[in-house]
Amino acid sequence: MLDKVLIANRGEIALRILRACRELDIKTVAVHSDADRDLKHVRLADESVCIGPAPSTESYLNVPAVISAAEVTDTVGIHPGYGFLSENADFAERVMECGFIFIGPKPETIRMMGDKVAAIKAMKQSGVPCVPGSDGPLGDNDEENLRIARDIGYPIIIKAAGGGGGRGMRVVHSEAALLNAISLTKAEADAAFNNDVVYMEKFLDNPRHIEIQVLSDEHGNAIHLGERDCSMQRRHQKVIEEAPAPGISEEIRQKIGMRCANACVEIGYRGAGTFEFLYQDGEFYFIEMNTRVQVEHPVTEMITGVDIVKEQLRIASGEALHYKQSDIKISGHAMECRINAEDPDNFMPSPGLITAYHAPGGPGVRVDSHIYNGYRVPPYYDSMIGKLITHGEDRQTAMARMRNALSEVVIEGIKTNIPLHQKLFKDSAFQAGGTNIHYLEKKLEQQ
Ligand code: ADP
Repeated sequence: MLDKVLIANRGEIALRILRACRELDIKTVAVHSDADRDLKHVRLADESVCIGPAPSTESYLNVPAVISAAEVTDTVGIHPGYGFLSENADFAERVMECGFIFIGPKPETIRMMGDKVAAIKAMKQSGVPCVPGSDGPLGDNDEENLRIARDIGYPIIIKAAGGGGGRGMRVVHSEAALLNAISLTKAEADAAFNNDVVYMEKFLDNPRHIEIQVLSDEHGNAIHLGERDCSMQRRHQKVIEEAPAPGISEEIRQKIGMRCANACVEIGYRGAGTFEFLYQDGEFYFIEMNTRVQVEHPVTEMITGVDIVKEQLRIASGEALHYKQSDIKISGHAMECRINAEDPDNFMPSPGLITAYHAPGGPGVRVDSHIYNGYRVPPYYDSMIGKLITHGEDRQTAMARMRNALSEVVIEGIKTNIPLHQKLFKDSAFQAGGTNIHYLEKKLEQQ
């Protein structure tokens, strides 16, 4: 097992990784910015190193600073968490060149999945279902592009190969708008991602977002841990996640899950990962793979009993997977609310001093958060201050427990989106389950 791990992240995920390390008797190094000296995991870590000023470009994204911190602390492995450097193939490569273990996939895998055209090609070859589309980059031949779109059928969506975070996409409803849309998306992609490669897909009008969690080791073993439904989104940001997804049978789960696990073996995937799909009319359509731990991993942990972060650490240390597919049993239902420091009405960030904090509790309640009484939420980073997770024998129980938990939690001094979650957990369509990715935004528009 790894002797010492540097946690190249902040907030709740840094604390989550620290806890997993401690369970496995791994020493921990926290790296933090000037603004983050008071983070909970910094106080709990065996060692801590300040890696720069508050802006993340100068600290959490500062590769030389992170590597130096690893060198001075004699670190063995580096866990990137999510966001920041987690899907940066150059960083993963640098980590390895400097003699450390990157707790994640090989750099070439990260690079391939970061290029959506390459990712889709690899997935198709491995038998993972994809959205009908251009099968590769669009060229300069207008006639050819018009023909491809006609074959797919409108509406279509133009997407940047290097895109991310919901940027670099454009929906086209008619032939008249196609060529202009292609050149605009190309120009935008060039400016934003320094890569003007774009491709075309069928635009699905009312899909759900369903994703498959996988674990894969270096010994040719891969398993899936079932699916999550993350359709409750605002501006492509997930707000509530749950597992399993309403209406997905065990047969469907095994079918799509095994395809993902097999794809992992074929591409030599290492670590934890997520295959994201759009799901419409009973069909799965691969859109991208996340090569890291995800914010919503706890809902899967609650229904499978597998500690995904501990598995990441074990896989990185070269161990074989501790589970076979037949060991994985789905038990009950789990929900997760992302708690953000923001105004619940206009979504403006609300950083500042937390003057009072009480965490909820009771059966099936889990709180993954770094906040405490007297903690000051800095204005420099993502507004998520924690996650509330509930588990119950069925969806109704998990929801009832979430309603309880939301009513118990007290966070004073800053605004949070808890009132929004309370509203959503009373919403009849969400309660029924299976709402699509547009549902939340439409509901917010109607208010
Ligand atoms: P990003 O890497 O920017 O998150 P994705 O490919 O994951 O890009 O797509 C982000 C979101 O855009 C999806 O969750 C979905 O809401 C929408 N989207 C992407 N492709 C399609 C499609 N073919 N049809 C409908 N919506 C899509």
